[in-house]
Amino acid sequence: MRYSKYFIPTQKEIPAEAEIMSHQLMIRAGMIRRLTSGIYTYLPIGLKSIRKVENIIREEMNRAGAIEILMPSVQPAELWQESGRWEYYGSELLRFLDRHKRKVCLGPTHEEVITDLIRREIHSYKQMPLNLYQIQTKFRDEIRPRFGIMRGREFIMKDAYSFDADEAGANHSYELMYDAYNRIFKRCGLRFRPVEADTGTIGGSYSHEFMVMAETGEDQIVNCLSCDYAANLERAEISPIDPEEKKQTPEMLLIKEIETPNVKTVTEVCSFLGIENKVLIKTLIYLADGKPVAILLRGDHELNEAKLKRHLGVQELNLADEDVIEEITGAPTGFAGPVGLKLDILADHAVKGMVNGVTGANKKDYHFMNVNLKKDFNVNAFSDLRVITSHDRCPRCGGKINFGRGIEVGHIFKLGTKYSHALNACYLDEAGKEKDIIMGCYGIGAGRTVAASIEQNHDKDGIIFPIPIAPFEVIILILQNHDKDVVAAAEKIYSDLLTNNIDVLLDDRKERAGSKFKDADLLGIPIRVTIGTKGVKNGEVEIKLRNEADRMTYPIDDASEIIREKIMRLYDTLK
Ligand code: ATP
Ligand code: MG
Repeated sequence: MRYSKYFIPTQKEIPAEAEIMSHQLMIRAGMIRRLTSGIYTYLPIGLKSIRKVENIIREEMNRAGAIEILMPSVQPAELWQESGRWEYYGSELLRFLDRHKRKVCLGPTHEEVITDLIRREIHSYKQMPLNLYQIQTKFRDEIRPRFGIMRGREFIMKDAYSFDADEAGANHSYELMYDAYNRIFKRCGLRFRPVEADTGTIGGSYSHEFMVMAETGEDQIVNCLSCDYAANLERAEISPIDPEEKKQTPEMLLIKEIETPNVKTVTEVCSFLGIENKVLIKTLIYLADGKPVAILLRGDHELNEAKLKRHLGVQELNLADEDVIEEITGAPTGFAGPVGLKLDILADHAVKGMVNGVTGANKKDYHFMNVNLKKDFNVNAFSDLRVITSHDRCPRCGGKINFGRGIEVGHIFKLGTKYSHALNACYLDEAGKEKDIIMGCYGIGAGRTVAASIEQNHDKDGIIFPIPIAPFEVIILILQNHDKDVVAAAEKIYSDLLTNNIDVLLDDRKERAGSKFKDADLLGIPIRVTIGTKGVKNGEVEIKLRNEADRMTYPIDDASEIIREKIMRLYDTLK
């Protein structure tokens, strides 16, 4: 490609709306332009980079036995009503009416559409396993679109769906995708980590998110420093061994009511009584699918709502409002406690080890001191309900844990029979018995992958693309357009590289050398070849890798051979 005939509208100014580097650089390098909130046009080099990610995905999906299809983006409401998600999906689902006043939506995901296809086409165990995928534009009316195409409203996703006749088959399909995803992100040159993710009510350990490690990531990740355990914060289990628990076994004292006028929050209670927050038994009243339940936590711990939802097997969880709390506890918010509370009480494991705790007295302006389990109150069940903290140890090996941030670029999930059951997608097994098909779903954000790569690979001058997803592999700079020998040398190398199927950009613009260097750095093309009057006089060209400081000169005649070797070496490191 000749730069002078191409379209790369780079810009110097840092766009005001771009909070993070990848967003700034994608705009400055002329990769994307915003149309409206969360909706972008992909300009030529942005699209090229995304297409390279798509091709890697395609190759690895095909290699894993998945088959490409393409499904529609406009979907009828009836299918979503059948699965129960027409209402449940909430405001992210863009619903509208067609000219016949029929309700339709723009697909945010395709479980409904694919399950509808499969229920019509698959009838026997002999037709499975099957894994179908597509690379397609999704629409989600995100509440907070931001970071450019990292969290857009319209974005390109690869979504795959597997269909199996039994658990073993479904687990195998899942593992094939797990391996394929590891290969895909490795080939994209990302520093990433698969982490265990919440499986909602499905249970088991069959959900992983693929996280690109980055400070600006929206997700919090926990990983063990001794073993390979890693999970997102929602999922991270808590080791039942509490290192602090053994230290304290004081004698149980007699429960005592104390006046605590207007003292409501954990901080207020602690400073009023002069106690540490871990002495407090925090009582939260929640509505779980509308039904009230009390949750007990140690004062220094935070509730993990995903764990609570999973434990209760409910879809919706809301903190009870003032009126409900008053009705249930007989006191305003801030004075709830388990003593004498007539409600299902669920407690986090850490509450088990608490002696002489402090709780609300279910009475305005009063708390209890020296509250003890079994003596003063009982709970219906204990469970792991809290968010992991830096004091906790690895739930697998007891090792030290580390907290980090990541960008979720992929997500694999064993769905089980959730959709097949709702939409009646069944098959006949070997014995002629009708059974629900077991499904899995597997997504990758193609645009987000490019953005995440830039977030991880850049410096003050611009992007540093890993070669497999760079818009071009090589850029050749012609420093003096008027020097015929320079132009001839550049044209020769350019055509040699093209003949060898190398993706090369020839900067033949009538621009100053300085701005050509600046643009080359900004675009992040891995190999830069500089051809100028002085070098050509000596029969030399300069070659520099974007991710290295060294510039090397080589004889003009050897240049294309050397470039090809360097390209091979760059790819080899990502195999
Ligand atoms: P998030 O938690 O970031 O909203 P999600 O759990 O909603 O992601 P999935 O439904 O699992 O995402 O979608 C699969 C993949 O699609 C994600 O791993 C991500 O790479 C991509 N993706 C999801 N939402 C967006 C978005 N708004 N913009 C760009 N890519 C997205
Ligand atoms: Mg989302």
